[in-house]
Amino acid sequence: MRGGAERALSVLRRLLAPNFEPCLACGKPVRAGASLPGICERCAAGVPWIARPRCPVCGRAQGCPDCLRPEARERAFEMNRSAVLYDAAMRRWIAEYKYGGREAFAEPFSIMLEQAYRNLVREMSAERKIRYRSPGWKADLVTWVPVSEERLEERGFNQAELIARQMARRLHIPAHALLERRVHTGKQSSKTRAERLHNLDGAFGLLPNLDPRFFRKWDLIGTEKRPRGSFPIAILLVDDIYTTGTTAAICASALKQLESLLGCSVLVYSLTLARS
Ligand SMILES: [Zn+2]
Ligand SMILES: [Zn+2]
Repeated sequence: MRGGAERALSVLRRLLAPNFEPCLACGKPVRAGASLPGICERCAAGVPWIARPRCPVCGRAQGCPDCLRPEARERAFEMNRSAVLYDAAMRRWIAEYKYGGREAFAEPFSIMLEQAYRNLVREMSAERKIRYRSPGWKADLVTWVPVSEERLEERGFNQAELIARQMARRLHIPAHALLERRVHTGKQSSKTRAERLHNLDGAFGLLPNLDPRFFRKWDLIGTEKRPRGSFPIAILLVDDIYTTGTTAAICASALKQLESLLGCSVLVYSLTLARS
């Protein structure tokens, strides 16, 4: 993709300034302590943050016909919040991360995701204070949309898992795989909406042999701090892109099956890097 001249220039720069870190997006130098690690200030300034979601369901920044469909009202997740719009730059960055094997994007992406989480906390805490006069809201557990074995082999990593784990580590929220991908569905982007819905049906399920003791270990159920049935478990479901919400809905229904395993209610919040 990059020209040989650019590569040579980058090598030359490195020789002249060994501490020079090239921007993941444009190759220009990144100054130390940049707001997004690995991203230069100029590129960071162009990040299309979603500061104020207009659609309360899917977190989109503009009006939203998708969420008005009757089937959308019955979705198993509470809401989706995304960090940024899926514009041309984000499309390029995410493609380089996902298909170009540039894992280093995971760090700035996880920080962008963290920003969306902090906004969600603010939003939820405000609502809680009004409705229950209770203290702030937080997620109890972080999980992610799984990819098929085939994709995993192809890419070497699950793009959603990597950013989810990095964010969870910084926020001190337990992170755990809870879902599995049951059938290989091919590339979603090349399909129509109807094809996607049909194709994804039954594509995700709870991992077999999930042990309820795990949840106790994380202080989520049946402990003194959190007696069984005291309040619902809030699970953050992480993915890179939110398009129609079908993937989030199917994963959320699978996660809802934890309710019978754990004997308490489970609420799923979708958290995605970009909203297309
Ligand atoms: Zn840059
Ligand atoms: Zn919406």
